[in-house]
Amino acid sequence: MSTSTQTTWPEGVIARYLTVVGSTVDLSGKKYNTAGTCGGCQEEFSESNYIARDLSAARHWAQAHAEMCRALPRRGRP
Ligand SMILES: [Zn+2]
Repeated sequence: MSTSTQTTWPEGVIARYLTVVGSTVDLSGKKYNTAGTCGGCQEEFSESNYIARDLSAARHWAQAHAEMCRALPRRGRP
């Protein structure tokens, strides 16, 4: 069993999505200026094709990314 979902969320993270291989996609920031980062492949929401950078768009990105990303988190990361 992975314990990665039970670790404390980093400060500022407002939503977290679990990928198919157990990495996490974290959303942080504010409702109209949301940042997102995948802990597996390090892709960022700002690199996505979404025009809006608000929480709603970030949730869509994170959900879609978590469903398809198969990158594993680098070992040794906190
Ligand atoms: Zn990813």
